[in-house]
Amino acid sequence: MTFPPTLPLPRIAPLRAHEHAWLVESRHRTSDGTVLYVRCASCAVRRVDLQAHPHVPPAAASAVFGDAHV
Ligand SMILES: [Zn+2]
Repeated sequence: MTFPPTLPLPRIAPLRAHEHAWLVESRHRTSDGTVLYVRCASCAVRRVDLQAHPHVPPAAASAVFGDAHV
């Protein structure tokens, strides 16, 4: 009995993306809430977050920008 030829398993590229670990660099109170300027501790990209209420977690108010240093 012969077995059908099998294809090699594709190599899965290592994930370059990671869950950013945001550190707050500065914060400023505005009429819309607190604007947080955050930087990833791992790859140093930046983002601007808005925390509309002190009891609500901040949400991204901008895209991620800057050069990642992995
Ligand atoms: Zn990161």
